[in-house]
Amino acid sequence: MTGLPITERPSPNHDARPAGQAVDILLLHYTGMESGAAALARMCNPEAKVSAHYCVEEDGRVFQLVGEDRRAWHAGLARWQGAEDINARSVGIEIVNPGHEFGYRPFPAAQMASVTALAQGILARHAIPAARVLGHSDVAPLRKEDPGELFDWPGLAAEGIGLWPAPDAPADDILPADAVPAALTEVGYGFIDKDPAAVIRAFQRRYRPAAVTGEADTETRQRLSALLALLKENASG
Ligand SMILES: [Zn+2]
Repeated sequence: MTGLPITERPSPNHDARPAGQAVDILLLHYTGMESGAAALARMCNPEAKVSAHYCVEEDGRVFQLVGEDRRAWHAGLARWQGAEDINARSVGIEIVNPGHEFGYRPFPAAQMASVTALAQGILARHAIPAARVLGHSDVAPLRKEDPGELFDWPGLAAEGIGLWPAPDAPADDILPADAVPAALTEVGYGFIDKDPAAVIRAFQRRYRPAAVTGEADTETRQRLSALLALLKENASG
């Protein structure tokens, strides 16, 4: 793609996508390790059996570890819209950040500029709907917190990457609490039967990052209502 230098850093950790499987998810992660170098080393270690297609350093450098035609190993046990082999149908980007375990911090502007350019290129090469630009915690809400509540999803959406609903659904349209599980299922979340609070936290990390509580409070239901309206709008138009 133009303008974005990419350094090849081949990983052995990949295999073939299933025959005929199209790429229809872009999955974003943070590395959750003490340094970008450590994350790159791990993703290139055959014994670790993990990888991603790309890794973006905090200074904006971009590394490609796996070709987009191959299945990289980044999602683990996951689910979205009922599908379970998320690696088979996704391109994965690891974004360097120490994460909640080692000192979670904001993603620098240079890094986000590279993530934006990289994601725009990926979306130009594959038919990935806006509603399927996802975070790891969206597809693995019981296990994962990345890229987390400091990640600039609205900034990406402003660049045409993923969805960010208008903040205020009319008060009349706010979902009642007992409609939340079905609404989250409709959005695509899985594992709601296992741990509904964890799924609500995943939704909040993505769409209501100011308070990740696991409680379907009024503002959370308002954001969920607004997202459902946007999804319907996207599907019909
Ligand atoms: Zn991840």
